Amino acid sequence: MSEYVKALFQAYYRQAPVDALVPKDIAKREFGFVIPGKKGMIRHQAFLEPKDYKGFLVQNTPVHAYHSATLYNSPWKDRMDLKDYTGCDLIFDIDCDHINTPCKKDHDTWTCKECSKQGTGKVPEKCPKCGGNKFDDRTWLCDSCLDKAKMETRKLIDNFLTRDFGLPLDAMAIYFSGQRGYHVHLERDDFRKMSTDARREMADYITSTGLSLASIGFLGKATTNIMGFTIKDPGWAGQISRGLFDLIEMLSAGKASTSIKERELELLKANKDRLKKRLLEHDTNWSFAGIGPGIWNHIIEGIVEDVRCDIDVPVTIDIHRLIRAPATLHGKTGLVNCKLTRDQLDPFDPFTDAVVFKGNAEKIKMLADVPRFRIEDKTYGPYKKDDIDTVAIGAAVFLMCKNMCEVLK
Ligand SMILES: [Zn+2]
Ligand SMILES: [Zn+2]
Repeated sequence: MSEYVKALFQAYYRQAPVDALVPKDIAKREFGFVIPGKKGMIRHQAFLEPKDYKGFLVQNTPVHAYHSATLYNSPWKDRMDLKDYTGCDLIFDIDCDHINTPCKKDHDTWTCKECSKQGTGKVPEKCPKCGGNKFDDRTWLCDSCLDKAKMETRKLIDNFLTRDFGLPLDAMAIYFSGQRGYHVHLERDDFRKMSTDARREMADYITSTGLSLASIGFLGKATTNIMGFTIKDPGWAGQISRGLFDLIEMLSAGKASTSIKERELELLKANKDRLKKRLLEHDTNWSFAGIGPGIWNHIIEGIVEDVRCDIDVPVTIDIHRLIRAPATLHGKTGLVNCKLTRDQLDPFDPFTDAVVFKGNAEKIKMLADVPRFRIEDKTYGPYKKDDIDTVAIGAAVFLMCKNMCEVLK
């Protein structure tokens, strides 16, 4: 971390209100920090008093600050079995890394560590050339990627946590991570007591893992009427019906974005009025000329793909994970982790609302090729290595956090 960024981070922590920085039940949490000039992550830190924690942040200006979702009686002990587990917040993580967006082909690249094969877009699970699974990736933040992450977060909160699980909004704390996504924390005692298996079951439901159409009542036999669902049905039956209803509406408006094949969409379009009526009037008969059980299965698969929510499952089921601390700065962007209400989520603009350092033009020189990016209402780049430009301080910090520019004196 450059001295320039370090001084800014320190000034931020000095003026940050303690209440915003401190997580609930601070004394029971383990903290971890990446600190400039120190190797790796400093683990097993604990703070009994909020002011000591703030003092630590001011003094050490961490590049990254994390705390455990887990609560322990002895969070400072350096062995997990000695910490004395008492519970763990239920966390949902939605991260651009896990979401496929078409723009990734334009701004993300990866290189296989085994055979040096390079590619663009989302990092593959296995190298297509040598089968290796270790990559150097260069990812970028863009508006469409973060919009998609926000859309998934809305889906998680509105369609799953609120509607299907019946959880009140005031049980959820929503955060912009400071970089590539959003987190939803549930910190009530009943969530904290959930077992790993219970967490996995919830994650499986939300991601549609192991969903069986027969088990939720879909009857698709060529010899009888095809029995589907209606929009008032609970659980995945209702999710699929509402997804189908929305799809028909979008088809009528001529702007459907879905993985379902054109030929199958045409069949839905041809039957759209009768189908909508049945979905609304709780008539489960899905028999229509030309749409046999096989085609329905394809269509439903496509709808499930659109409706399911792309959470990062290991974050939800792992009860010993460190998560980014509230209102701390992200060392790869200089953006601040923001706590949001559900109402604040919709208009939230990470590239404006999470920018801490504003004003002050800085003359900078690029240390690498820089893709186009936006800070507040100004778009910068793309730049070539060695280009020089005068930019707002937020843009300079953003690039400096990525080691992509230096400030010229
Ligand atoms: Zn390879
Ligand atoms: Zn993108």
